[in-house]
Amino acid sequence: MKLNEIKLTNPYLKLNEECYDKVEPTPLHKPYLIHVNKDVAKILEIDEDALESEDFLSLLNGTYKPKGFEPFAMCYAGHQFGQFVPRLGDGRAINIGTIQKYHMQLKGAGITKYSRHGDGRAVLRSSIREYLMSEAMHGLKIPTTLCLGLIGSEHDVRRESIEKASIVCRVSTSWVRFGTFEYYASQGMFKELKALADYVIEENFPHLKGKNDVYTMLFNEVMVITSRLMAQWMSVGFNHGVMNTDNMSIAGLTIDYGPFAFLDDFRHEQVCNHTDVEGRYSYTNQPAVAKWNLQMLMKALSPIADMEKMEKILIIYDKIYTRYLHYYMCKKLGLEGTVEGDPELIDDMYDMLESLHVDYTLFMRTLSHYEHGGDRAKLLATGMYPESMNTWLDRYDKRIQYIDNTERKKQMLENNPKYVLKNYMLQEAIDAAEQGDFSMVSSLFDIAQHPFDEHPEFERFAGATPTAFKNKKLSCSS
Ligand code: AMP
Ligand code: MG
Repeated sequence: MKLNEIKLTNPYLKLNEECYDKVEPTPLHKPYLIHVNKDVAKILEIDEDALESEDFLSLLNGTYKPKGFEPFAMCYAGHQFGQFVPRLGDGRAINIGTIQKYHMQLKGAGITKYSRHGDGRAVLRSSIREYLMSEAMHGLKIPTTLCLGLIGSEHDVRRESIEKASIVCRVSTSWVRFGTFEYYASQGMFKELKALADYVIEENFPHLKGKNDVYTMLFNEVMVITSRLMAQWMSVGFNHGVMNTDNMSIAGLTIDYGPFAFLDDFRHEQVCNHTDVEGRYSYTNQPAVAKWNLQMLMKALSPIADMEKMEKILIIYDKIYTRYLHYYMCKKLGLEGTVEGDPELIDDMYDMLESLHVDYTLFMRTLSHYEHGGDRAKLLATGMYPESMNTWLDRYDKRIQYIDNTERKKQMLENNPKYVLKNYMLQEAIDAAEQGDFSMVSSLFDIAQHPFDEHPEFERFAGATPTAFKNKKLSCSS
């Protein structure tokens, strides 16, 4: 499809006008294209030729207006660090319309009714982080929002210093958050709450349509997909950093990339968000926080769903989460299904890695090359003191003794990425980008898309994180 053939639809605008603010994007000065995601363009059925054009750049800057262009920001509330904030909303993300069931948003496109004291902008570094990281999660087969493209500009914005503004065009099958439901419930707008739930069912859970007690069923679905998402995050070592209910997707996607991090050395208590002094959103707390967030969603749905049933649904969250975690971890360990003793083997591996200060990604990938009963030198070299690793490997050897080595290694190499985008790698790309060199953005994008491939030219990113960059915290400032 050429750009002039695009016909945007705006299903969200059928909801009550209290749900959104119709607002035009405010374009950036002197925009330029940094990167375009051809795979996403393909999903949206936009011709590859069109991606090089001035009009495409203008589309990302909010000035090219395809048919049906009717921009708006969405309203929501949310629990931020446990405190209810009654009115948040898209303060700097403007929806421009929907194609092929994907809702396009320009993040950093200027002020909306929900900007509060913000300037509606996104700085280059935060846009690069979201652009690359959403692709990395996608490459790891973890549900996430995606990005179509990234633009820079000569537009100054004030943060701790003056920085350049940029816009990332992100797309998702839903931008509805737990906090969107909390908004209508807290306002006593139950008719709108129902309409929102119907909208979400239509878009993301169409198989529920016409079912009895459909809103309770919706809660059940969200519980299951959220528990699965948590298991996926945990198994890959991802720490989101700001799991406020306004950053929780109703469609079970990873959403709103801020001060996230992949684990360097394995650490249960890893906290990547500088402002999170109490470690509420630490790596290890994520599954429990998601459950707490589901509880907030349950309260929000209570005017239209069966509270007693939802409470029962929430009780089984832990069981479902654990089952998913073991499923993903067994795949990573090359085990064919979970048997008695596997949960302990997994937990003890985590403890062993933590006590030996072992890089999680490096260990799992190295283990993927390990022959049963074979040479352990490469594995032992990932940690400081070999004894406890040897003890654990003895148990692992016993567990895999009847599993075909070749098959196991193949499965493991498909489930343990050689590369994850650690923050120091992203920072290297950002530092270069701020000097006008976007080659690292491109390189990391390629790695992000194929994290299980060897990429020998990027071997330096496959090792443990350099000590100076380990376990750094990031600010939310973006
Ligand atoms: P976040 O922690 O990035 O999910 O943002 C929390 C809320 O603050 C959201 O409602 C954002 O839209 C809003 N926000 C963050 N940065 C800005 C900004 N620069 N201008 C306006 N609103 C912002
Ligand atoms: Mg957010």
